[in-house]
Amino acid sequence: MRYELHDGRILTWSLEAHVTTHCNLRCVQCCPLSPHLPTWAVSPSVLGEDLRRLARVLRPNIFKLTGGEPFLHPDLPAVLDAARASGISEQLSITTNGFLAQSAPDAVYERLDRMTLSVYSSAPLPERSIARITERCEQHGVHLSVKHIDAFQQLTPDTPHTSDAAVRAIHERCWLKVRCHLVHAGRFYSCTRPPHVATVLGPTYPEMPTLAEVDGVSLDAPDLLERMLGYLERDTPLATCRYCLGASGDFRPHAQLPRARV
Ligand code: SF4
Ligand code: SF4
Repeated sequence: MRYELHDGRILTWSLEAHVTTHCNLRCVQCCPLSPHLPTWAVSPSVLGEDLRRLARVLRPNIFKLTGGEPFLHPDLPAVLDAARASGISEQLSITTNGFLAQSAPDAVYERLDRMTLSVYSSAPLPERSIARITERCEQHGVHLSVKHIDAFQQLTPDTPHTSDAAVRAIHERCWLKVRCHLVHAGRFYSCTRPPHVATVLGPTYPEMPTLAEVDGVSLDAPDLLERMLGYLERDTPLATCRYCLGASGDFRPHAQLPRARV
């Protein structure tokens, strides 16, 4: 994959940030592993600083607030203001399961350009909620995409891949490395998996490296543009690919995990 530059910034499809790691649903094979992560919400000022540094070298078409469920963040307007002020992208979007979106304050809708509403067959959002969200998006000029999802793709393999050839093949077939770029805790990643896979699977696989540190690019790097280009255009897999199926997993009917015991 080769990337074009414009005014010294790498042009990309999109960039996302997990503004929360927790969620009000527990989807099986959740891509960011939310059902297995502790409650956490990003600091707007910390995210804003990461985005300011990244905006010097990266120009994504769209910046997405994802999670977890982003509407669980205690101060979404501040997150959106920090993202807007960073200049990272003209299009600010949020991806949600919708259960909290209908009652969110106007201050959130006023700051958004787009919303993606994921409606899961295993936890269907009532039609009246979809209608209310549609109405509020229309009132505030927010472009709404509704995605009905009735299957999930297995992302976490039953065991890590043992052969390097298998890891290379998984990485080569994976489209997430182009479409799901992530900024998280001072690093840029070409997909959303590295920061959380070690947290969740590390205790099971003691040989696993610290994936959040060995993958990705630190935003502190003095030669950030060159490092980012080299990272994005390389053909070698991430260390995380050994613990991931990318776009190669089987599809299964969508399902929810049982509620965790507290
Ligand atoms: S709604 Fe999204 S973030 Fe929440 S568990 Fe499902 S896939 Fe994960
Ligand atoms: S870890 Fe590798 S296989 Fe998994 S989503 Fe990222 S690039 Fe794709």
